[in-house]
Amino acid sequence: MSRRCTPRSAGYCPAVELTESIATMKCPFCNHEDTPVLDTRLSEDGRSIRRRRRCEDCDKRFTTYERIELTMPVIVKKNGSRTEFDPAKLRGSLMLALRKRPVSAEALDVAIQSIQDKLLQSGEREVMSGQIGELVMRELKRLDKIAYIRFASVYKSFEDITEFQDAIDEVGQERKNARKRES
Ligand SMILES: [Zn+2]
Repeated sequence: MSRRCTPRSAGYCPAVELTESIATMKCPFCNHEDTPVLDTRLSEDGRSIRRRRRCEDCDKRFTTYERIELTMPVIVKKNGSRTEFDPAKLRGSLMLALRKRPVSAEALDVAIQSIQDKLLQSGEREVMSGQIGELVMRELKRLDKIAYIRFASVYKSFEDITEFQDAIDEVGQERKNARKRES
């Protein structure tokens, strides 16, 4: 499909406005809402887009940038307060759950990295602390059932008690199987 410009008035291109303007980018000089894009350029590293715009009203030109935002989301606690994501704290709570468990430092690093990657990839600017708790539980469940139960017993509410019970049953079953193998 060609994107031919069919101006309704001189200098006004509805096609450009529809496809290239992000909602209405107001003119920083006069607040006018028609600021069509004159020129769009991708940066060398392909991670930002620079757009030159011209105000339809005052004719001034300005530049906007579109960039990828990859920062750790802010953590929203249950009481609504916000706190910065703290990788040391995350490691601390995983290590506490994994105390004296047969899990290597490398496996712990992989788990922490996986949690951080998921938070980054969510693209969210804020996440509830509960979401991080869920990610931690998922990793611990994979790493070590005992550590998972330790963490979940502190973390999970009683509504999730069936899932918790399932994990305990699984551990019980694993122990029974181990005993069978030994005898
Ligand atoms: Zn203007």
